Amino acid sequence: MPIVRVALDVPISTLFDYTVDETVVTGMRVVVPFGRRQMVGVVMECVESSDLSIERIKPVMQVLHDSAPLSAKLLELLQFCSDYYHYPIGPTVLSALPTRLRSDKPISVKPVLNYRLIDGAPNIDSLPKRKVIARRIVEKLHEQICSLAQLRALSATAGVQLKWLEEAGWVEQCDASLLPLASEGGEKISAHTFANAHPLTKEQQQAVDAVTQSAGYGCFLLHGITGSGKTEVYVHLMDHMLQHCPEHGRRGGGQVLLLVPEINLTPQLEGYFHSRFPDAVLVSLHSGLSENQRLHNWQLAQTGCAQIVLGTRLSVFAELPRLALIIVDEEHDSSFKQQDGLRYSARDVAIFRANQSGVPIVLGSATPSLESYHNATSGRYRMLKLTGRAQVDARLPTVGCINTSQSILTEGISEKLLREVGLRIARGEQSLLFINRRGYAPVLMCTECGWLSDCKNCAGKMVLHLRDRRLRCHHCGFQLRVPTACPDCGHAELKPVGNGTQRVESVLQARFPDARILRVDSDSTRNKRAWQKMREQIHANEVDILVGTQMLAKGHDFPALTLVGVLDPDSALYSSDFRAAEKLFAQLMQVSGRAGRADKPGEVLIQTAFPDHPLFRCLQSHDFDGWAALLLAERQMAGFPPFVFQAMLRAEGMNEGEVYAYLNLARQAALKLKHPVEIFSVVPASLARRANHFRAQLLIQATSRKALQQFLRAWHLDEMPARKLRCSLDVDPLEF
Ligand code: ADP
Ligand code: ZN
Ligand code: ZN
Repeated sequence: MPIVRVALDVPISTLFDYTVDETVVTGMRVVVPFGRRQMVGVVMECVESSDLSIERIKPVMQVLHDSAPLSAKLLELLQFCSDYYHYPIGPTVLSALPTRLRSDKPISVKPVLNYRLIDGAPNIDSLPKRKVIARRIVEKLHEQICSLAQLRALSATAGVQLKWLEEAGWVEQCDASLLPLASEGGEKISAHTFANAHPLTKEQQQAVDAVTQSAGYGCFLLHGITGSGKTEVYVHLMDHMLQHCPEHGRRGGGQVLLLVPEINLTPQLEGYFHSRFPDAVLVSLHSGLSENQRLHNWQLAQTGCAQIVLGTRLSVFAELPRLALIIVDEEHDSSFKQQDGLRYSARDVAIFRANQSGVPIVLGSATPSLESYHNATSGRYRMLKLTGRAQVDARLPTVGCINTSQSILTEGISEKLLREVGLRIARGEQSLLFINRRGYAPVLMCTECGWLSDCKNCAGKMVLHLRDRRLRCHHCGFQLRVPTACPDCGHAELKPVGNGTQRVESVLQARFPDARILRVDSDSTRNKRAWQKMREQIHANEVDILVGTQMLAKGHDFPALTLVGVLDPDSALYSSDFRAAEKLFAQLMQVSGRAGRADKPGEVLIQTAFPDHPLFRCLQSHDFDGWAALLLAERQMAGFPPFVFQAMLRAEGMNEGEVYAYLNLARQAALKLKHPVEIFSVVPASLARRANHFRAQLLIQATSRKALQQFLRAWHLDEMPARKLRCSLDVDPLEF
């Protein structure tokens, strides 16, 4: 009897054998008994015999036919991830699937998210004039069947209007299969127009040519300063690939996967690419979608209908049968790295995938990660540079430092910076004050006895939030009312120490009572719509001063912004995390890129006690290459990535002794193996206790990926007893 080997979502590195009495192929989903439960799994292998005796093998309960089997290529990709990240195969495979495919609840045969005009719908002129959005929807549906996502791109209220149109007998929902289908023949799939194209600059054209002329796999680093027109390069590449499928060397459309950081996947971005490719089928894949939407979009990618897939890290596991190009925008962004479960880097998996599929991949950034930069300068990747701003009149901002040790500060803000902000207000221009800490102040202190607002559950401090008069721990969420007197000595004077966004906001409000100040951080944008509304306000020039965290640094274009002030960057200069300075430079370069994008020159002022630090000097001359060379030399000397390869074993638990005992046991086992890897001591994590759990870690380092992988395979961590502990292995860790 045929036997299938099934991947199940259980934390054991093995496949499970079941008998099956119908014909199945690999990649099919099956329902199987497991212990007293039943689970959905994926058939990884079909075999004739098993190591288990046949009586002990249970039969498959049901073979699910409601979606196409996963392709051999995707299974291979997932196997690679499981091996490389040393994470069990079952959870790896299952976590790549949309939630709906992980359950045995039948998925509806008719996805309900596409719309078409009803035959014989009345003429558009009979729609009331004031129904602007409804009219636009009808116009669009006249041209083609559209997905809900496409219609949403027209307006945020498209959903409501559709409901109205449905009830009024204009439109109806229809099946995904009615969307323009991928043709297996040879002709072009859909005549997409390529709207609003700019004539490319010479550098842009060279970048486009380099990628389109490469045969098969190639990894390109598109290093272009902010405003150099990287997006335009993407658009031209996408246009090319939608028409050519390099894999088969024939005309006929390919699929493009565009990976973006979490924070960038806003409706605008989707809307932007819709507007550039109005006739292409574009779907997005990210965690903000409903389960049904995600399944639907995933299936559109799987059937080849979707020509452009725009997504966050999880979309790197989308099925893409006609994949022609992968683009990773803001490739340095840490949100490409998953921080739990399968701790993959979507950028790195994307590179493996491009190689597997024999297609080019473009990594784009103004501030590439040192890893990618090193690979590009050493010849593993090809470097493509955009050195000028795309719009002729756009100039780079001037960058200057304000020496805080020689300035008068008002609650941490220098007089000079305040004056410059005042000048901008007078000129009707916008200023942005960047500080990477939310709340009012990072800690509250007793001026008498030195009491500090420690969190009772964590090794960190409770942050003062003055708005709602609370102390709040940003690690575990624990909160308290702000005490009126010192809990230790009863002294009545408690002093906020340091600055957060709220405090900067209130200093500015006191100084400029009439200014319109907008604070942008994860507190003020908790509501989904809020951030969207804020961006509109900024664009409508209804804001004079922006105060915000890194949320403001990324990929937004604020034309009226001419001044950026940076507060408190210094802690990153001497941090124990060797990547802190790299991150700070990238952030400051990104945030500087916000100033003076249109016709007005921008200015960046950085408050620091170390104005001569090379980081600021390189920033002043917009010299990423110089900075990267410096950092790389430092990293090489110190023996840090990208010159070595790392894996981090972490453990946490309520009992400190158990945590250290486990890690030391693992360390002893590692030492016994005598592999050519460096095994560090067990040390506390940078946050040594979080939510009452003690946390510690063990770092392993090797001079080659291969040596590291061989060691990790030999280590057999899964055989180490770790009861009651949360343990994880992180290959290529980003956080320390
Ligand atoms: P980046 O993503 O590199 O920061 P963008 O792609 O956002 O830069 O481009 C910056 C601005 O320059 C945009 O307004 C874009 O429309 C414009 N732009 C891009 N390429 C060109 C070009 N070749 N000619 C004129 N303007 C361009
Ligand atoms: Zn006290
Ligand atoms: Zn806490």
